[in-house]
Amino acid sequence: MPVSGLPPYDDQNIFAKILRGEIPCRKVYEDAFALAFHDIAPQAPTHVLVIPKRPYCSFADFSASAPEAEIAGFFRAVGKVAKDLGLETQGYRLLANMGEHSGQEVPHFHVHLFAGRPLGRMIPNG
Ligand code: 5GP
Repeated sequence: MPVSGLPPYDDQNIFAKILRGEIPCRKVYEDAFALAFHDIAPQAPTHVLVIPKRPYCSFADFSASAPEAEIAGFFRAVGKVAKDLGLETQGYRLLANMGEHSGQEVPHFHVHLFAGRPLGRMIPNG
């Protein structure tokens, strides 16, 4: 669902293809709201992506357009993935890029889940 000022959803983006089963992924978890899988280029010992099953191009789109039950279901799935992977004891980081300055590459809303070592500062200097 496009939000005013944001581009329309591109159903040829790589995560749309993963959701349709056209491209494989290393699946971690799936339910009615979310699919979680390992990032293809991990930046931490654990680097999992959690994506909503329906088409939202960014966090801005998801937060403005998704029904409340879907927002709740999605974020519960993120928490469940982290818990089921055993990440709560030593901790983890969630990150969502939105738009040009963030460096968002894939225009389907996703949350990165990083863990497995001390993760340093939130935003590196420079
Ligand atoms: P963004 O920069 O959009 O927040 O993050 C996109 C992420 O998707 C990157 O971390 C990148 O490594 C990951 N990625 C890109 N293409 C693929 C793919 O085909 N499969 C998987 N599993 N991850 C991908």
